[in-house]
Amino acid sequence: MLQLLKQIEAISSCRDRDILGASVVAAIHELFRPLRVTLLRLVPTPNGPAVTPVARFCEEGLRLYGEAGETGVCAELLESSALLHEAYRSGQLASTDGETGFAFAYPLSTGANATPGGFLKVDMKRTPTSMEREALDRFLRFYCNYIKLLDYSELDTLTGLLNRKTFDEAFDKIIASSSPSQDPDHQDDRRADDGMDNRHWLAVVDIDHFKRVNDTFGHLFGDEVLLRVASLMRCSFRSQDRLFRFGGEEFVVMLRVGSRANATRALERLRQMVESHEFPQVGQVTCSIGFTAVDPSLAPTDILGQADEALYYAKEHGRNQVCCYESLVESGLLEQHDFQPQQPEFDIDALFA
Ligand code: GH3
Ligand code: MG
Ligand code: MG
Repeated sequence: MLQLLKQIEAISSCRDRDILGASVVAAIHELFRPLRVTLLRLVPTPNGPAVTPVARFCEEGLRLYGEAGETGVCAELLESSALLHEAYRSGQLASTDGETGFAFAYPLSTGANATPGGFLKVDMKRTPTSMEREALDRFLRFYCNYIKLLDYSELDTLTGLLNRKTFDEAFDKIIASSSPSQDPDHQDDRRADDGMDNRHWLAVVDIDHFKRVNDTFGHLFGDEVLLRVASLMRCSFRSQDRLFRFGGEEFVVMLRVGSRANATRALERLRQMVESHEFPQVGQVTCSIGFTAVDPSLAPTDILGQADEALYYAKEHGRNQVCCYESLVESGLLEQHDFQPQQPEFDIDALFA
């Protein structure tokens, strides 16, 4: 009992979703001692819904995935797992008796709609007792309710993307996870495609002539355009990329790919997806994109400023295109700004050395 309260306290004091996921699997492992417990996130892909692991507790201990841990883990299509597919389809606990024991999957409804945002999969040697099942069920409800509260404060209400408020914190976390020793322009494409890269790029995506959409078709159809662009973004980028709505018709993407060429390719893919999408009533909509390499020594506002300059260039030169700040500077089309590196934090040890 005390153990359970301790776990609940640890979870409710955390706002970082990756750490939260890790705490949940660790808590379930401690409480029920299963063979393996895995938290999975549901991600849309062009081939249908897929799952990617967030955290797992198994024989080797805790394993984290994504930004906080192992990267390059491919999303698996939901239909390749009968158990998860059943939990997704029914919206309820699904279970199976296998050769190695008993497995069950809980759909985790963390959003406003009934579609689960992920799953908790537990593998046990034996069938859990009804008491254990109920305890697990209540524990997961608590977790889902807590995620809903976090979502309420951190997600944009229209599109469900991260809101502007969360950007600085997410930015710091991403910077902390990237290694400064590699030159972003000289990573080979294979590494990037393997997902082994650790470089970041920041892109600002702005819908072209959006005011005209509102003026011609009304705000409701304008909102529908925003919703669809957000969902095209979700399909277009990998799950470790961070997507924000900065307000109005402006979106920001923090992209993890190994080279400028690959960043261009990923953003170009989004531009083309938007251009070729048939928006209800409105028809064709295009977007312009400016992006820049994330230099960890610069302030987030300066990095955003560079991407904005590239975006402005794209707008001024015909819209519906992707422009890279560094490429524009190298070709003499933009003047490089001399941004000052951020001051290191005050070092109290140095003062007394
Ligand atoms: P440009 O190609 O230069 O970006 O032109 P634009 O018309 O897209 O840009 P502008 O900044 O002139 O207009 C943005 C419009 O976005 C104006 C505002 O009414 C609309 N807008 C902002 N937030 C929302 C929203 O939440 N819903 C809808 N429907 N419209 C919004
Ligand atoms: Mg616009
Ligand atoms: Mg704008």
